Amino acid sequence: MSVVVLRTAEEVRKTVEEWRCSRRIIGFVPTMGALHPGHLSLVSKAFEHADTVIVSIFVNPAQFGPDEDFESYPRTLRDDIDKLEKVGANAVFYPEKDIIYPEGFSTSVHVSNLTDTLCGKYRPGHFDGVSTVCAILFGIVKPDIAVFGRKDAQQLAVIKRMVLDLRFDIRIVGADIYRERDGLAMSSRNRYLRPVERTQAAALFRGLSRAAELAGKGERDTGRLCEVARQIIAKSPLAVVQYLEIVDQDTMKPVERLDGPGLLAVAVRFGKTRLIDNIVLDPGASYKED
Ligand code: AMP
Repeated sequence: MSVVVLRTAEEVRKTVEEWRCSRRIIGFVPTMGALHPGHLSLVSKAFEHADTVIVSIFVNPAQFGPDEDFESYPRTLRDDIDKLEKVGANAVFYPEKDIIYPEGFSTSVHVSNLTDTLCGKYRPGHFDGVSTVCAILFGIVKPDIAVFGRKDAQQLAVIKRMVLDLRFDIRIVGADIYRERDGLAMSSRNRYLRPVERTQAAALFRGLSRAAELAGKGERDTGRLCEVARQIIAKSPLAVVQYLEIVDQDTMKPVERLDGPGLLAVAVRFGKTRLIDNIVLDPGASYKED
């Protein structure tokens, strides 16, 4: 069956209602398009929990800063639909801006505390844009489950908190980071990298992996773990680290000593391109033995 393209909230509501009448569990994957295998892995993940999956494609202006890449963000709808068709998605919601933000729109959802750190520090207003658009999309689609990638770990934590606080009856499922062969996390923005930057960008995962390995062997000093990752990334001369921190996975607050799993999160600039990545550090066996 081919994927249905829905352009308005009414079309989505009607379609989802029909699915619901036939007792189907509805999974939802919000995206900004320019789909890559990482996005498609979210659709597969959604099918593990649902029998019907709707994907939204909306380049959300509210989550871009004034100096960010909203205008130049890749828009590849035809290709995206082909890819979604191949993975068996049932529908794609592709709204115009005024469907999401009609005239007079005046609401903003702000999740506090866990938006103060990491990307929140460097992208003011970004998470308000994300939580607001997700609240709107959840209200239109009313899915049973929604899948978000762990690549955007802070976003996942923010959405989980919002769903809890606003009592959305939606289960939020996290999906593992999908990587290129050399470890670079897939991202729609990787296409901006010049070949030399693309080669050097693999250092992010090398740095994160080394820290994870040391943590697994029992290193709990987060300062030292960060230093190890930072030094490996610094071997790529074009990499400019914006932040590199170990935080609690739920609260996004910095952790000084690794007495349980922690999230090592990094943002690095290569020229105009900003990449983020993360890895869970788990003190593992040596931690449990103590
Ligand atoms: P975006 O289109 O960048 O807004 O991403 C849409 C969803 O795909 C978000 O939940 C992202 O976390 C997720 N995502 C993007 N890249 C990856 C990846 N490499 N692996 C897993 N999930 C991803």
